[in-house]
Amino acid sequence: MDTTDTCPKCGGKELGRGKQNGYAVVTPTHKAISFGSEVEHVLCTDCGFIIESYVKQPEKFKTK
Ligand SMILES: [Zn+2]
Repeated sequence: MDTTDTCPKCGGKELGRGKQNGYAVVTPTHKAISFGSEVEHVLCTDCGFIIESYVKQPEKFKTK
């Protein structure tokens, strides 16, 4: 459910979604093995400001 549809920086109304993976994944710092989780960004298509970011598998970051 999206509640944000306006860029807080420039007021732009067109927001896009982008996925980030590959070498730029966010990796849990407490895990020795190298795996990460895909990140999805909600960004302003006018100025490029990232409004929200989501990690796709947040459970990977639990320490217990
Ligand atoms: Zn903007």
